[in-house]
Amino acid sequence: MKRPLININKLKLVSFIYWIFLTYMIAAFVWWYVSLQKQNNLIADIKFQTIQLSDPALKEKTNTIQDFQLRKTKQFIGEGLTFLFLFLLGAIYVYRSLLKQLRYSNQQQNFMMAVTHELKTPISISHLNIETLLKRDLDLAQQNKLLEATLKETKRLDALSNNILLASQLDMGLYETNKQEINLSILVKDAMASFQERFPLRLCNIIVEDEIIIQGETLLLQILVNNLLDNAHKYSPVNMPITIHLHNRNHKIILAVEDKGKGIPMNERDKIFEKFYRVGDESTRSAKGTGLGLYLCKKITTFHNAIIQIQSNQTEGSIFTVTFNNS
Ligand code: ADP
Repeated sequence: MKRPLININKLKLVSFIYWIFLTYMIAAFVWWYVSLQKQNNLIADIKFQTIQLSDPALKEKTNTIQDFQLRKTKQFIGEGLTFLFLFLLGAIYVYRSLLKQLRYSNQQQNFMMAVTHELKTPISISHLNIETLLKRDLDLAQQNKLLEATLKETKRLDALSNNILLASQLDMGLYETNKQEINLSILVKDAMASFQERFPLRLCNIIVEDEIIIQGETLLLQILVNNLLDNAHKYSPVNMPITIHLHNRNHKIILAVEDKGKGIPMNERDKIFEKFYRVGDESTRSAKGTGLGLYLCKKITTFHNAIIQIQSNQTEGSIFTVTFNNS
C-alpha cells in the first residue's frame, strides 16, 4: 500500500529536477547566443581596425565587414531558434509523459485503496454472518436474513473480481471471443430484475422493446448493463428513479441508462472512461468503486462495434447511451 506513495514523491522530485534542468538549458542557450554575438562583434572590430582611413575602397570594405557581421548574427539567431524549438518540443513531450505517469500512478494508488476496501468489506461481513450462524441458535427467519445478506456480499465480490479479471484479460488481449445471437431484450430485463432484487427500494422504469437481437457476448453484455445500472444507483439519490431504455431505430439499437443524480461535469466526460479514473479526490468520494466500471463498458462497446456516450447535465443527472450498429 505504501509503494505508490513513494513513487509519487519520486515523480515529484523528478519533476522538480526536470524544471531546474530545463531552466539551466534555456539559460545556457541564451548565454551561448550572447557569447557568440560578442565574438562576432569583436571580429568585426578587429577587421575594421585593419582598414586604413585613406583606403580608396574604405566604404566597400566596411560594407563587406558589416554584411558578414549581419550574416553571422542571422545565422546564430536561426540556428539558436531551431535548436530551442526542437529542445522545447522534446521538453514538452517529456513533461507530458511525466504528468501522465504521475496521474496514472495516483490512480493506481487510489485503485489499490479502493480494491482493498471493496474486498475487505464483503469478506468481513460474510465472515461475521457465518460466525453468527455457527455460534448462535437463531430461528429460521433470522438464519435466512443472514444467509441472504451473505449471498448479497458474495455477489458483490463476484462482480468485483469479474471486473478486475476481465480488465486484465482485455488489456492483455487474452479474452477469447465467443459472439453469438443474443436476445438483448431478455438480457436487459433479467439484469434489471436482479438489480431490483438487490435494491428493492429503488424505483425503476423499464422501457424495453421486445425481440431485439444482436450478435454479441452474453457475459460481456451483462457486465456492461450491470456496471451502468450500478453506477446509476451509486451516483444518484435513492429516492430518484432509474430508467433503462432499449429500442431499435433505423437499424440502430440504442440502450440507455438514465438517472437523476448530480451528473458528470463537462471536463470529466472523456476522462471517466479511463482506467482507474474516478471523479474528484479519493478522500472526498463517498461512493464505493474502483474506477474500472466505465473503462470496461468502453472496451465492451468497442468489442461489439458500438459506441458509448454520455448525455448529462449538472441538474438533471446522467444518461449513458450505447449505440449498436445493426445494419
Ligand atoms: P467507479 O464507479 O468504480 O468509481 P466507474 O469507471 O464506473 O468507476 O466510473 C468512473 C467515475 O465516473 C465514477 O467514479 C464517477 O465519478 C463517475 N460516474 C460514473 N457513472 C456516473 C453517473 N451515473 N453519475 C455521475 N457520475 C458517474
